[in-house]
Amino acid sequence: MNKIPLPPYDDAGAFLTLSNNHLLASYPQLQAVVGTVQSSYAHYVAARGAPLLVLQPVGDNVAKFLKGHYSSPPTDLAHITEMRESSEHLVCPMCGSMHSGTLDHYLPKNGFPTFAIFSKNLVPACKCNSKRKETLTGASPNERVLHPYFDECLGERLVRAQFDDLGDVPRVSLSLMIPNTHPHHSAISFHVRSIVQRSALRKYLADRWSSLFRKPSLVVRALGKNVATAAELDEILENERDALDDLHRGKNNWNSIFVSGLLQPPVVIWLTARLSVPGREPDSPLG
Ligand SMILES: [Zn+2]
Repeated sequence: MNKIPLPPYDDAGAFLTLSNNHLLASYPQLQAVVGTVQSSYAHYVAARGAPLLVLQPVGDNVAKFLKGHYSSPPTDLAHITEMRESSEHLVCPMCGSMHSGTLDHYLPKNGFPTFAIFSKNLVPACKCNSKRKETLTGASPNERVLHPYFDECLGERLVRAQFDDLGDVPRVSLSLMIPNTHPHHSAISFHVRSIVQRSALRKYLADRWSSLFRKPSLVVRALGKNVATAAELDEILENERDALDDLHRGKNNWNSIFVSGLLQPPVVIWLTARLSVPGREPDSPLG
């Protein structure tokens, strides 16, 4: 999960240019919907992409053209190609995995074809977004998938790893870091259940733990040396977590989620006991 900047493109202008491109099969059909689509774009931004508030005004024929233009963007929609190429290597804003890999839709293009080529509806994402299929909202009114361009709460620290039965293979789960009174608790909890819990995050966290257990410096460089106290370890882990937040431009990338789990007091105590054994060879296994 990550809050990312709103794409800077002029979608209304691009749609007008697209509608006037007589070389495309969609000419002249798109011309009849320019006003409708442009006002839908403005409405989308005003409603901050809220799935139940966004209107769906185009017919099947126009929908087919728009989906086609998304799949093979003509030059009038160069921003789609640019967005695809510029974000693959960044943290997935939907689940927090370390690579996005593809460009996808927030409001799915089948249910919401009006926004099939709308830059503010196009989000970089990994496989997690196709796994959610058309899921957008839950049973209660406040349950919904978070929007990487509009939900500021994605910039807060929302989840951490939870390690239990500490040893070489601990039990790994996820824990929400927000109080029940958080104004967006239902949406955050729904997003985590619908997208993050279904991703490979728990396997990733288990794998990181396994590397940490075998050779601590592989995961936290500063743990290549022994530590003397829990306070010292706490400081090392906080520095590591803050550096990861900074590097990955957000607090909910999988590496920050891992280190936030290490910072839980029972884990700090457990790790300190192993990293402070007299005569321990630095960076040796924790077992
Ligand atoms: Zn993802």
